[in-house]
Amino acid sequence: MKNKSILFTLLAFLIIHQNLNAQKHQTIDDIRSTIQKTIKDSLVKLSNNTYAIIPDGLFAGNILLYKSKDGFIIVDDQWDELNSPISNLLKTISSKPILYILNTHFHFDHTDGNNAFGKNGIKIIAHDNVRKRLLFDQNISAPMDVIQSKYPFHALPYITFSDSLTIHEEEEEIKIFHVNNAHTDTDSFIEFEKDNVYHTGDIFVRYGFPFIDDNNGGNILGIIKAVNVLIERTNDSTIIIPGHGPISNRKDLIIYRNNLQVIVDRIKEGILNNLTVEQIEEKNPTKGIKWYNGAFVTSRIYNMVKAGL
Ligand SMILES: [Zn+2]
Repeated sequence: MKNKSILFTLLAFLIIHQNLNAQKHQTIDDIRSTIQKTIKDSLVKLSNNTYAIIPDGLFAGNILLYKSKDGFIIVDDQWDELNSPISNLLKTISSKPILYILNTHFHFDHTDGNNAFGKNGIKIIAHDNVRKRLLFDQNISAPMDVIQSKYPFHALPYITFSDSLTIHEEEEEIKIFHVNNAHTDTDSFIEFEKDNVYHTGDIFVRYGFPFIDDNNGGNILGIIKAVNVLIERTNDSTIIIPGHGPISNRKDLIIYRNNLQVIVDRIKEGILNNLTVEQIEEKNPTKGIKWYNGAFVTSRIYNMVKAGL
């Protein structure tokens, strides 16, 4: 089941990337029409008060739910089209309303649902840069190379923060931490302190080498730094919801961080030995790393590592 889920996500990722590569600068609307048919969400109970919606066979972000006496706090909201399926899943837990939506970052597969939920007056919370990016059209980097159109006012974050923010919900402390220049320049991870559950956004993913949106401030060095912070804060019983892929734990974070570090170190060594990008590519910086996939492009990581030296 776990492997099937990863495979489906990976396939969807690659298929959409291939389609997007075939025709430059498609919009989100171009792929929207196929989404409802390809996404199947499943609800998983994680702890006393937390649940996850883990999509299967699709290109949509994982959702984390917190249930309080008054209603739900949800982290990320996938696609606008999936508003009804998500709302139906919530109804199987409780008839209470959604109180707040948190966005881990600005990408459409985590924020497109803001449109439907925001229209219903639900307040959205995110880092300052999520709002700044959603105010204008954004070109998401290759291999996606897709235009994400600006969002209407009601779909923008209503509450924004610069470094961190805490929601004091009954006994739970819900903490949102911004991390600099990682998957994008808008990323946060969310900690449910008492339940010991995290949503990492796309800082941490399970489909293979992470997609890094360098047009919008993403950097592999920032991802490693952010994952190190997560490793510091978590323990062996922490439940970790990645941006995409199956429910994970601290060991998965460590493997992911180590793999990224090996790739960066190999590229850094090549640069210090005055090798060209082509020569570094020939030596295969991802050699021996099992989860390597097509989201890895040597030249882009080379530029990030070089700029960091
Ligand atoms: Zn993303």
